[in-house]
Amino acid sequence: MILYQLRCAADHEFESWFRDSSAYDAQRKQKLVTCPLCGSPEVEKAIMAPALGRGTRKAEEPAPAAPAEEAAPAKVALMSEKEQALREMLKAVRQHVEANADYVGDEFASLARQMHEGDVEKRSIYGEASPDEVRALVEDEIEVHPLPSLPDERN
Ligand SMILES: [Zn+2]
Repeated sequence: MILYQLRCAADHEFESWFRDSSAYDAQRKQKLVTCPLCGSPEVEKAIMAPALGRGTRKAEEPAPAAPAEEAAPAKVALMSEKEQALREMLKAVRQHVEANADYVGDEFASLARQMHEGDVEKRSIYGEASPDEVRALVEDEIEVHPLPSLPDERN
């Protein structure tokens, strides 16, 4: 892209972007380059813009895709707020269970079964159980719940 400082027949000066110098020549011949103030197609190059090729100039180039790009971050912000709320909820559930139940580690499945069968007094416990142990407990209608874990808390 190239920025030209242009001047019309009525001496209005304005700037315009072109793909390259031949694009400017072609558009000028077809009278597509017109003064934004008076609409005159009689334009000529004033001076070569001194900022040609500099990043700051290029950044000012109008970008048609800008509105869509502005809309996207807001949507992401909403998602992360929801995720944050969900994280807090899961954390609260975990903290409640950990504060009110006994940690029994891998004894969980056998203890849960003994409580269910009345061999051990019922109380709230939490610990680890393999998928097979959990399936067996559920099949015997022993109510167990997976304890939610947060991705960054897994070791
Ligand atoms: Zn003009």
